Amino acid sequence: MADNLPVYIDGGFRQSASTESIPVTNPATQGVLVHAPQTTMAEIDQAVAAAKAAFAEWRQVPAPERARLLMLYQAKLKEEQDAIAEIICQETGKVFADAQGDVWRGIEVVEQACNIPSLMMGETAENVARGIDTYSYIQPLGVCVGITPFNFPAMIPLWMFPLAIAAGNTFILKPSEQDPMTPNRLVELFYECGFPKDILQIVHGGKDQVNALIEHKDTKAISFVGSVPVGQHVYRLGTQNLKRVQCMAGAKNHLVIMPDADKDQVISGLVGASCGAAGQRCMAISAAVFVGEAQAWIPDVAEAMSAVHPGAWNQDGAGYGPQISVAATQRIKSYIAKGKEEGATCVLDGSEATVEGFPDGNWVGPTLFSDVTPEMSIYTDEIFGPVLVGLNVDTLDDALDLINDCPFGNGVSIFTSSGGAARKFQLEVEVGQVGVNIPIPVPLPFFSFTGWKDSFYGDQHAYGKQAVRFYTETKTITSRWFSSEPATGPNMTIALK
Ligand code: NAD
Repeated sequence: MADNLPVYIDGGFRQSASTESIPVTNPATQGVLVHAPQTTMAEIDQAVAAAKAAFAEWRQVPAPERARLLMLYQAKLKEEQDAIAEIICQETGKVFADAQGDVWRGIEVVEQACNIPSLMMGETAENVARGIDTYSYIQPLGVCVGITPFNFPAMIPLWMFPLAIAAGNTFILKPSEQDPMTPNRLVELFYECGFPKDILQIVHGGKDQVNALIEHKDTKAISFVGSVPVGQHVYRLGTQNLKRVQCMAGAKNHLVIMPDADKDQVISGLVGASCGAAGQRCMAISAAVFVGEAQAWIPDVAEAMSAVHPGAWNQDGAGYGPQISVAATQRIKSYIAKGKEEGATCVLDGSEATVEGFPDGNWVGPTLFSDVTPEMSIYTDEIFGPVLVGLNVDTLDDALDLINDCPFGNGVSIFTSSGGAARKFQLEVEVGQVGVNIPIPVPLPFFSFTGWKDSFYGDQHAYGKQAVRFYTETKTITSRWFSSEPATGPNMTIALK
């Protein structure tokens, strides 16, 4: 039987006292790699208490010193990028280059966190009234919590704890139970850089552990990334418990193909953005909106998609890896069957895909539907697999109406050679992250990751300046220093005099 993965609670890594655990499997083989313990409620309490105690000292460490430690962490992650990617390959099945990208996009956030001294500068105004100055400081909140999904086990934890910790908070991470080995390695490497103990802790488990962390009286802010139903639950529970909450949730991302677009660029963009990472990206393109004459390109898109094949992490020529679980694979296949029943045309069907040498893997081949209409469940629901649904519209206005009616608003893209069309689109589309001739417009970390509508609950988004605001509080000081002039008597008004 595979071992239990350690937790980091109160002073170091250790085995959880829990007798319950969740198997972590390699999705290309179903081999059990390790078990994720269901951290006990007493251990959750201990983790929060230790993080609270560590906060008292960590918040006093000057921001430049905190930044210097983060610089060491950034360098360590770069050194270890390939080794971390190998762990990702094992527990998610991602192909190696994609796993390297998962680590890299997290490293970029650590780089941004190294700027914390300037990101935490407040404002000043002199002489706001006679002899009176006002200035503000940005201060940390306390114990922050991160709850992360399976699809980017390095990048998404790194969206959260480096910035929260750089800002002077302490942090408890509850990663996905489907791929917790990568986050454990991130925490091990963190402590190899000399950070003081307990400022970052990691607990494992599922919904009970999430709920306990949210409801705990000493946690201050909850950062969540995952599906819409869980995001809604976390947002409601968090706000009911008067926590600061940000929930980055699910998606259905459209790519609009104007007839004046560069056809080859469109096809490459669609194939990579719909099938890359087995369609398990929150910014994957899952709906292609063909405008007017661009509808004639659907057979070319199908041909290009059919040239891409899933495969195991160690196989040459694998375009992408398996789905994360047997349940996810069954769910995707049931949507493919539903799409056919609902009357869409299945131009390319990946539901029978197999991979030589890996008979037990969670394989789904590239799948393309055309003639999809907005009420079909393959359009309304997030499928989270390599399934692209094609819708036909006559004009750019029709494309905008379709997208603006969709409840999700994570990412969207337009391919066109018309600046006017692109500008109208970026102005009018009700989606938080827009690509112009870019299929997956994930912002670099000096911006923030800004999904809208049902793709986000909260107000301050992930990473960038918004995350610094999310993990901090502003304190505003109004001060007067007396010189030699005599006291003027009591001021009986609210005005500064
Ligand atoms: P998920 O919602 O199933 O799980 C996310 C986290 O919530 C995990 O840590 C899990 O243990 C926990 N959880 C699961 N059920 C819970 C419950 N009932 N109560 C409390 N906690 C619970 O998501 P997933 O399948 O791991 O990840 C895929 C989803 O994440 C997709 O919907 C994808 O679009 C979304 N996602 C969104 C973004 C974004 O930035 N908007 C980024 C990545 C992934």
